[in-house]
Amino acid sequence: MIKDYFKEIFIGGKSLLVGLGVTFKAAISPIVTVQYPREKIDVTPNIRCHIDLVPNPHGGDIQCIACGMCERACPSGCIEVITQKKEGEKGKTLSAFKLDFTKCSLCGICVESCPKDAIYFSNEYELASFSKDDFHFDLLQRLKERK
Ligand code: SF4
Ligand code: SF4
Repeated sequence: MIKDYFKEIFIGGKSLLVGLGVTFKAAISPIVTVQYPREKIDVTPNIRCHIDLVPNPHGGDIQCIACGMCERACPSGCIEVITQKKEGEKGKTLSAFKLDFTKCSLCGICVESCPKDAIYFSNEYELASFSKDDFHFDLLQRLKERK
């Protein structure tokens, strides 16, 4: 009986020391918790948020030539490329690039099918809203507003 009593004290004490060891180890480890949204971490370059238009680095607004390949390739039908024909200009120009992000599966087919590398996945992960309408974007308009 007395033997069991001391055995239990020993097991309890050992368990206490193991627990304190874990606590001590955590206390001296580097802090990995980020106080979001006040603090943010760099996201991986491979992140897939909504698609966005690539600005043209050689002048002009965009790289997109309004060919409509992405629109035809999208399996969810969430892209609408709206074009206009300007007088005196050859071909069409983009007047709006509509994205219904509520339907997008982030499959990447549009990005892969673009012959001009004119769209990419943005890293805009902080999208939250109570209204679906807030996920209908005109990517051309958004690009202009960012400039
Ligand atoms: S990622 Fe896929 S679903 Fe989303 S717009 Fe592109 S093709 Fe459509
Ligand atoms: S984003 Fe690419 S595939 Fe889509 S319309 Fe523009 S050039 Fe064509």
